[in-house]
Amino acid sequence: MKIIMLGAPGAGKGTQAKMLSERYGIPHISTGDIFRANIKNNTELGKKAKSYMDAGALVPDELVVDLVVDRIKNADCMKGFILDGFPRTIPQAEALDYALNNQNEKIDYAINVDVPDENIIERMSGRRACVGCGATYHVVYNPTKAEGVCDQCGQELILRDDDKPETVKKRLDVYHEQTQPLIDHYEKKGALFTVDGTQDIQVVFDTIVKKLG
Ligand code: ADP
Ligand code: ADP
Ligand code: ZN
Repeated sequence: MKIIMLGAPGAGKGTQAKMLSERYGIPHISTGDIFRANIKNNTELGKKAKSYMDAGALVPDELVVDLVVDRIKNADCMKGFILDGFPRTIPQAEALDYALNNQNEKIDYAINVDVPDENIIERMSGRRACVGCGATYHVVYNPTKAEGVCDQCGQELILRDDDKPETVKKRLDVYHEQTQPLIDHYEKKGALFTVDGTQDIQVVFDTIVKKLG
């Protein structure tokens, strides 16, 4: 099953992708996590990506497309994958379609987690991310058992630099301008499934699983 997660920053894509990954036994591939790991390890890619990310802008397509196209050729993607945070532009979506097409494959579901802008700022200011495994929590809606420590791996939680309200506003503008058009793109392909992302995490998950079977 080949899945992509669509939705505004903070809509809950990562939260659902992690749960779906466990449920279906397919890898969760988050381009944001890949970039953050590269920044942490001070790689060339990390150095290039950092200034865009800090500004709330998108990293250029040429830095992300090959990375993802190569990643989904890995053996662990044989049964499928969940892409979270990619594609984010029409050229990225076209590059993905092209790569899959060459192997007689396609995206089965584009899951659009729909959350209005009004809810996003609150979501983001309460988001806490694990530096170790990338798990995300929310101080109110999805708290950890022990404060400041990841339930999954025990490492420290941080507030992401780009989750400051000013940067979130910028990221929302970028989302509406460059990423939202993908909803139409996947609707035309008959792959779109929209879920109301303002519901409880578990309700959103159950709704998606009902659709996917
Ligand atoms: P969120 O979870 O809030 O939607 P991500 O972790 O997916 O955010 O992405 C964080 C940042 O990483 C983005 O603001 C952007 O700068 C960069 N990024 C991640 N994926 C992509 C992509 N597919 N194309 C361009 N930039 C990306
Ligand atoms: P995205 O990957 O789309 O940027 P996340 O999965 O990181 O979003 O979720 C953003 C924040 O909102 C996190 O703090 C997360 O715990 C919280 N969250 C996710 N889904 C829900 C939900 N359905 N209701 C309330 N809070 C949620
Ligand atoms: Zn962790």
